[in-house]
Amino acid sequence: MSAPIINDTTLCDGEQTVGVAFTLDQRCAIAAALSRAGVAEIEVGIPALGEDEIARIKAIVDLNLDARLMVWGDLTQRDLAAALRCNADIVHLSIPVSDIRLQDKLQKPRRWVLEQIARVIAEAVKSDRKISLGMEDASRADPAFLVQVARCAQQHGAQRVRFADTLGVLDPFSTYEAIARLRDAVDLEIEIHAHDDLGLATANTLAALRAGATHANTTVDCLGKRAGNAALEEIVIGARHLLGRDTGINTEALPAVCRLIEWASGRIIFSDKSIVDRGVLTSDPSDRTGGITKHRRTHEEFEYPQPGRQRSVALGEHCGPQSVHQAYSALGVSVAEWLVPLLLDRIRHFAAQYKQAPSASDLYRFLAEAGETLDLRLAEALRALKLDLSRTDS
Ligand SMILES: [Zn+2]
Repeated sequence: MSAPIINDTTLCDGEQTVGVAFTLDQRCAIAAALSRAGVAEIEVGIPALGEDEIARIKAIVDLNLDARLMVWGDLTQRDLAAALRCNADIVHLSIPVSDIRLQDKLQKPRRWVLEQIARVIAEAVKSDRKISLGMEDASRADPAFLVQVARCAQQHGAQRVRFADTLGVLDPFSTYEAIARLRDAVDLEIEIHAHDDLGLATANTLAALRAGATHANTTVDCLGKRAGNAALEEIVIGARHLLGRDTGINTEALPAVCRLIEWASGRIIFSDKSIVDRGVLTSDPSDRTGGITKHRRTHEEFEYPQPGRQRSVALGEHCGPQSVHQAYSALGVSVAEWLVPLLLDRIRHFAAQYKQAPSASDLYRFLAEAGETLDLRLAEALRALKLDLSRTDS
């Protein structure tokens, strides 16, 4: 099976996240960063939105990036005409294919879908662009009709179909079946577009790649409307480790790309969710032996990209003596063995009370307090000893 090709839609679907709007400079910076990281295709906008959008798309086209650029439109003559003004490499034209969308949204019969393909795709392929047909709400469409649509697209010269799980209703098993059926039916590129409503976008995308999809549509850090799309960083690392297939993307570049999106979107990346963020580089707090620093593979399957990021120690209610040593050695303090039980006690109490790990200054304070406690205990012990001695004397 060939290497999966990433088509990143952070600038298109991703910008539909509530409250996210990138400036022109941010859009150009994001496109350049994605391309530099090795993302092969970038979906950059919707020309039919008007002149402003076309200007924004052209600004990215003018960057002459290595990545191929795709523009999005509905499967109409009007959207095709707007798309062709942008000089993008790939024109993606989308149409609903489920009965529920055709009837409720457009009041059109299935036959109309095939007629639109014959009309608009046939026109589109006369350009020198690669043409992709978007099958909106494919996951709720009649599978037999879906095959008919894909065959029709192939017959009229499209090079790709995009299977859109528009509402995020699939699981990996049904995704695999649906893509395998399409794979058998047509000789086209097949792209998977998965939404994360059930937290399955990554699983479904990987299942689709396993079933024969050639392209995966992603967004950085799962950006996108409602629950978002399949996360670029998860697909890249998942494809490599679970499918043994390399997307050609430099994973070392991904943390910086995620930081850029965090800044441009004003949205904090969930540290425990993102495979490229802080959370995954925090040691397992229940690891009492400190094994992760000695035997990484015992505790982590993946090689997490970590440029500029330090592995940290999780200090919580469940941490062990080794975590105490590691946390203090990260501060440049070597802690004597006999102090560790006292420090461990303080750290655990702190974590239980404040529901967070102690900061560096908390750790210094614990150290000072532990010393004082020991002094007190020593004084007590000496007092007791003196008393004992005086008794012996008498
Ligand atoms: Zn979508």
